[in-house]
Parts: sequence; structure tokens; C-alpha cells
Amino acid sequence: MINPTPCSCVSDIARSFTRFVRDGQPESELYQTSLMSALIDGVYDGDMTIEQLLKHGDFGLGTFNELDGELIAFDSEVHQLREDGSARAVRPDQKTPFAVVTHFRPTMFGSLTKPRTKQEVQAVIDELIGSPNVFCAFRIDGRFSRVETRTVPRQAMPYRPMLQAIEHQPIFAFEETSGTLVGFRCPEYVQGINVAGFHVHFITDDRKGGGHVLDYRLIEAKVEVARISRLRIDLPRTEHFERATLHSEDMASAIEAAEG
Ligand code: ZN
Repeated sequence: MINPTPCSCVSDIARSFTRFVRDGQPESELYQTSLMSALIDGVYDGDMTIEQLLKHGDFGLGTFNELDGELIAFDSEVHQLREDGSARAVRPDQKTPFAVVTHFRPTMFGSLTKPRTKQEVQAVIDELIGSPNVFCAFRIDGRFSRVETRTVPRQAMPYRPMLQAIEHQPIFAFEETSGTLVGFRCPEYVQGINVAGFHVHFITDDRKGGGHVLDYRLIEAKVEVARISRLRIDLPRTEHFERATLHSEDMASAIEAAEG
């Protein structure tokens, strides 16, 4: 429900959201294949197909083998956003080296009816979730005055670590656009396993462009939020994963540089 007297205060916006209790339904699970630290180290080929991934969730984000662009999934549709700015529907036999999905069952719904920055929207989501220690999935459908994205460029063997691979990554700015943001907010304690904080991908309504979101400013939007307190991880059964360096002193700063 919309608060009849609009207020810029984050807690007032959060209070205007409808909360819905799903009695008797199993709790949502965050499912991921591989680890963010493996991707940072250059493990760009996984053994999981998109068809297998969709069994674990119809909603999420990630990348493709050879680091070939950004993955965005919702309503069981999966799209690939590539470095040339193009987007295409994904084949079920394509593989992913890192993806995070859930069966999206939002329990908090609301509308943002005034222009908001990314920081303001994130503050509203933080307020809705209430605790920094649980996971959250969210979907935002709306109109944006600007969305700034990047897409990872496809790599060839021998793979370089991610910070080198993305040195020349293309950045796109979508002005006056409509589309969907798919995002997760993960607790700080999973940095390395996943991405601590917010991780968001975008696709335009015409399904022709998008990417990993760097920044946005929305005009008006519908917001759906799910709180999640279960995490499941499948590690790739590949030699490259087994040989990877998955912990280092500068892992946190590398992830911030790669995914921030
Ligand atoms: Zn991303």
C-alpha cells in the first residue's frame, strides 16, 4: 500500500510496504554454484548447465562459461548480456561457472513513486529486511532516468584472474529506460563465498540490453523483496576449481573492485 502522504524518510517508505505471510510454504533457499573467490581466481568454466541451474531457482544472476557476459533470470527466463551490448535468450545446455538463484517468493511488496538513487533504494531494502545477517532477494520493475552497467568480456585460455580480465570491460549507460533489476543482498560474512552486500543485474523491457549494475536512478518502480535464511552451495567438480587459490589476503578488496 502506498503511504498517502509521500515522505522521503526511508523508514516511512518501508512502513508503506505490504507484508505477506506465506503460511505452510517451505522457506526460500539461496542456491549457488561455485564461489565468488573461484571466479576472482579465474575459474571461468563450470560443469552446471542452465537447465540444471533452473531446478534450483527461477530467479537470479551470474555469468557463463568463458566469462561470456552477465546472466539474469526471472520468471524462469534466462538472458545473456554480452560485451557488445547485445542480449539473447539462453540455451538450456549453456554452462555457468558461477550463478546464484532462488525460487523467488517475495513477502514484501511496495511502490516507489518518487525519484530515488541506488543508495536510497538499498536503504529501504535494508530497513525492510531488518537484519544484516540474513540474505535477501529482490526484484524492481520500473522506469529509470539512468542505469549504468558493465558486462564481463569473454575470455580465452589461458585464463587471467578476474581483475585483469575486466580491465577493459565495456560500460553502458541506459538513459530514460524501463526494465527489471534482479538483486541479492548477502551478509558481510560470506565475502569470498558470494558477494557481500548488494549484487544487482539489469535488463531492459525490450530484452535488448543490460548488465551488471554499477549505479542507477529510478523514477518510479514496483519493488518485491524476499528474506532468505538458507544457503546451499554446489562446488564445481573440475580440476581448475580444485587447483584454484580461494583465499588470499586481498580477496575482499579484489571482490569489491570486480563486483562493486
Ligand atoms: Zn554481477
